[in-house]
Amino acid sequence: MLDTRLSSVLRTTKQKLELLKSMGLKTVQDLLEYYPRGYEDVSNLVPISTFSLQEKNASRGFLSPIKSVQTRHGKRIQKAVFTDKEGVQIDCIWFNQPHLARIHTTEQEVIISGRVKRGFSGLSFQAPMVEILSNNQVHTARIVPIYHETEGVGSKWLREKVQQVIYYTKYVEEFLPEDFLMEKKFPVRSKALEQIHFPDSTSEMKKARERLAFEEAFLLQANALQAKYTWKSAGEGKVIPMNVSLIKKYMETLPFSLTNAQKIALYEILDDMEAGSTMLRLLQGDVGCGKTIVAAIAVLNAVDAGYQCAVMAPTEILTKQHFAKFQESFEVLGIKAPKIEILVGSLSAKEKKRVLGLLAKGDVNIIVGTHALIQDTVKFKNLGLAVIDEQHRFGVEQRAKLQKHGAPHMLMMTATPIPRTLTLTMYGDQDLSVIDEMPPGRKEIITRVIQPDFAEKASLFITDQIRKGRQVFVICPLINESEKMELTSVTEEYERLSKDVFPEFQITYLHGKMKTKEKDKIMQDFRDKKYDILVSTSVIEVGIDIPNATVMMIRSAERFGLAQLHQFRGRVGRAGDQSYCFLFVTDADEGIPRRLQAMEKYNDGFKLAEIDLEIRGPGEVYGTRQSGLPDFRLANVMDGRLISQARKFAESLLKEDLGLNKFPLLRKKLEGLGNRFLS
Ligand code: ADP
Ligand code: MG
Repeated sequence: MLDTRLSSVLRTTKQKLELLKSMGLKTVQDLLEYYPRGYEDVSNLVPISTFSLQEKNASRGFLSPIKSVQTRHGKRIQKAVFTDKEGVQIDCIWFNQPHLARIHTTEQEVIISGRVKRGFSGLSFQAPMVEILSNNQVHTARIVPIYHETEGVGSKWLREKVQQVIYYTKYVEEFLPEDFLMEKKFPVRSKALEQIHFPDSTSEMKKARERLAFEEAFLLQANALQAKYTWKSAGEGKVIPMNVSLIKKYMETLPFSLTNAQKIALYEILDDMEAGSTMLRLLQGDVGCGKTIVAAIAVLNAVDAGYQCAVMAPTEILTKQHFAKFQESFEVLGIKAPKIEILVGSLSAKEKKRVLGLLAKGDVNIIVGTHALIQDTVKFKNLGLAVIDEQHRFGVEQRAKLQKHGAPHMLMMTATPIPRTLTLTMYGDQDLSVIDEMPPGRKEIITRVIQPDFAEKASLFITDQIRKGRQVFVICPLINESEKMELTSVTEEYERLSKDVFPEFQITYLHGKMKTKEKDKIMQDFRDKKYDILVSTSVIEVGIDIPNATVMMIRSAERFGLAQLHQFRGRVGRAGDQSYCFLFVTDADEGIPRRLQAMEKYNDGFKLAEIDLEIRGPGEVYGTRQSGLPDFRLANVMDGRLISQARKFAESLLKEDLGLNKFPLLRKKLEGLGNRFLS
């Protein structure tokens, strides 16, 4: 019933139906679920004598014939006089709506509503809404729904169309449990859908919206938990016992001890893998907090239990860095050191074949790689733990490709700080560990916005830093997507710096269109201090660790988002030395954007994430579907109370009854939606 095509019920034209289709509205259900964005309360009918200039007024009475007239300026307007029950009259005026003259009849009583203006000849209605009095008002004498409009599809028109299908709400099934509705005092679904469009009162409207918002948040949480619980029991729930003595022994070889936050996160991860269900855990922590070592220890422990581990990162540079670090740090274990290989796109075919062979036989304990790890040719003998670094760079489908190898424990890592409420929505299928503490001795990175006038002073400062043996990153923006422009911006900056600004120093550059081999060589040389300055596009953004770099210069900083700026800044200050971040702005006239001011003021990624959310809103900050942000119509993803209530309720239903056997209608609804957490 609800899937009836709009084309077979609406009285309208083909063109309008096409427009609706382009708005995603094809069936009656689609239209019923096209919720109003707001309302206008014109339910209170009053005599003209009590009209107010501040708000809309509605009154009941009779309208004289509507006449089209030409104004002195040649415009066409329509005029009529409205008379209320008390016999008081008011002029009405419309602009260029000649059709009004045709549709109006003077015999019938009408309701009129709109804004009034005071002019030379007293009050007048400005383009009021007129509707013939009936027991079914749509546009007047009620709380009137206002819809998101698009070209050719206005609120008034939509209202009439919704009205034409509103009786279908009686076929709407309830899928939430009855006692729950009672407890929350929520209306049943059919009533909520009716009342959200044509509410009897403000409180009915609020209840309807509340229920439907809850429903959205709840369905998402139910999906998340279904995915979560299903995953927990996937595979054989590989039990990986904590080898405490090995871990202790290994930690003694580190040049530092773990922070408390690292220890807690590590414990949560190890505990999870020991528990006999399959882990899916998100390790969140600001840039530089030390996530890699936590992952490394988890990997070591899994290898010790006889499993293979995979570590996937989004770029070759980062992958090689991980590979080198893992190799170096596990070497201390002597003959018991795990065997590590790397798998990236730039390997020769022969080399790839060799690594794949070893991997399939189980002769490799740890494989570190890029997307190359999720090609179909990759076979594992017994994958026990997969780590995905900078997980926001990968999609659910890519994660799923690793998961297919016998359901290993999954550890996802991200430096994108996300407030808890949003994590529940975006990563509701995962458990969460947070490292909310920086290793000791880190100094705040001093951050300054540099106006064009001050560029020279900044250069002197940087010269001084380099003379002290420090290294410098220079980030150039992608002027636009074209390869050529990207190249120009980097090479031009390179030339400018090496000829005019820092002629005495060794400078090199890096951009996304270079061959991997070239990039790697440059990174390696930079790490080996063959260069003082590295000019780069945003390819440098994630994960790169060059402890000797103390200056981050960002050109045209106003072109970057807050999250990205914070990521760039995280490339310096990774050792104990005082580090600096200079945000060069191109145009001083426009004032310093708020996000650059925030960068000056805060070093804490979580704080910056909050500010970013405030400035841009979650949709802009976390982007598209790929990021896992749902397109809720009513629910506010930032509404912590709503989200956690929805979560709790979903937990209470699913914990005992994962298949929802007691709630077949809910099961059907969820199946119909498809699960965004599974690919
Ligand atoms: P991220 O969390 O951004 O991936 P990394 O894992 O790359 O950060 O760590 C950043 C730097 O901090 C590395 O050089 C690492 O060796 C170092 N580090 C990690 N943990 C500690 C610690 N507890 N004390 C001191 N330095 C640490
Ligand atoms: Mg990292």
